[in-house]
Amino acid sequence: MKGGMLIISGPSGSGKSSLMNEMFKKIDGVYFSISTTTRAKRDGETEGIDYHYISKEEFENDIEEGLFLEWAKVHDNYYGTSLKPILKSLHEGKLVVFDIDVQGHKIAREKFGDAITSVFITTPNQEELKLRLINRGTDTKEVIEKRINNAVSEMTRVREYNYVLINDDFKKTLEKLTAIAISSRCRVHSIDTEEFISSWVN
Ligand code: 5GP
Repeated sequence: MKGGMLIISGPSGSGKSSLMNEMFKKIDGVYFSISTTTRAKRDGETEGIDYHYISKEEFENDIEEGLFLEWAKVHDNYYGTSLKPILKSLHEGKLVVFDIDVQGHKIAREKFGDAITSVFITTPNQEELKLRLINRGTDTKEVIEKRINNAVSEMTRVREYNYVLINDDFKKTLEKLTAIAISSRCRVHSIDTEEFISSWVN
């Protein structure tokens, strides 16, 4: 595999998606891994761009068939990463970017080890996250409560990541995320080390 893998996690409402979308405009050769989910489509989301939306039965069938690199149940819904497009993009030398939760990060890390660079994005505190979720206006009070509880348990696992970004200033956080993405491509694991070394020394 020649490409690189960059995992981005963090609570819904941390600004993760907006940061990623802006970061994609700044760097080339990136493939965003579109996850499959059983959750309902939110206003403004598009099939095949934000997620592939399928039923619970279809998802469970795909699990049985071994089609996922990883999958997890988050806030009562299934989310998963399909294996095939990821392998193809890695062979094409692309930087594959994943927006997955801490469970998915753990599984991917166990499978790919140091080849992964990971970033956890969060808000400065819990109150700020709650405020952002309320202002976003896409979730019910109950769902917001679930997301906050999930964020609290995810925060206790920040140490499993290579980087943590506290998103208190969008522009500065974007600069940092872009720098991490660019440098992740220079990691020894993301180049064809054998070929490079032998061409260099001979
Ligand atoms: P949301 O419903 O806000 O789009 O996403 C909820 C959570 O699911 C987020 O923490 C997001 O990172 C995570 N997530 C999205 N896709 C995947 C996936 O394919 N695998 C895993 N493990 N988590 C995912």
